[in-house]
Amino acid sequence: MSISKHKVVTLHYTLKEGAEDGKMIEETFGGTPISFIFGIGQMIPGFEAHLEGKDEGHDYAFLLSPEEAYGNQNPNALVEVPKKNFENAEGKIDEKATAVGQPVRMKNPEGQTFQGTIVDDKEDKLVVDFNHPMAGKSLHFSGSIISIREASKEEIEHGHVHDGTHH
Ligand SMILES: [Zn+2]
Repeated sequence: MSISKHKVVTLHYTLKEGAEDGKMIEETFGGTPISFIFGIGQMIPGFEAHLEGKDEGHDYAFLLSPEEAYGNQNPNALVEVPKKNFENAEGKIDEKATAVGQPVRMKNPEGQTFQGTIVDDKEDKLVVDFNHPMAGKSLHFSGSIISIREASKEEIEHGHVHDGTHH
């Protein structure tokens, strides 16, 4: 069986930044492989494009450009936020929570939540980067396809894999 839409694919992967010998971002080797339903948007399209039609046991390795992965850095996603917004009920700013490198969650007026990271401290303002952490990066994937099976009707309806622990 080879990989196509609505197959449940189980695979191991190693993800490195920029190149095969780049900085390790994450890997499943030594742990549990991931399973996903192919072709329904669970994985980034660039990743799936390189795996379509491949068979069980196939070892893969490919590099995705930022455009094929999480897109380029969007300068409009860098937002200056007044430090006053980080004051607690006593009017004090939590120094730890407002340090450069700290994650931030914010809601827009429509109630949507965005995850960002503090990247700069400008006295009375903080610069928060709401780009995806992997935006602007080329991603090198390598690994091995462990198994391929048909997704059940229920799995396709739910949009996720039922691995025995899930209802
Ligand atoms: Zn389900």
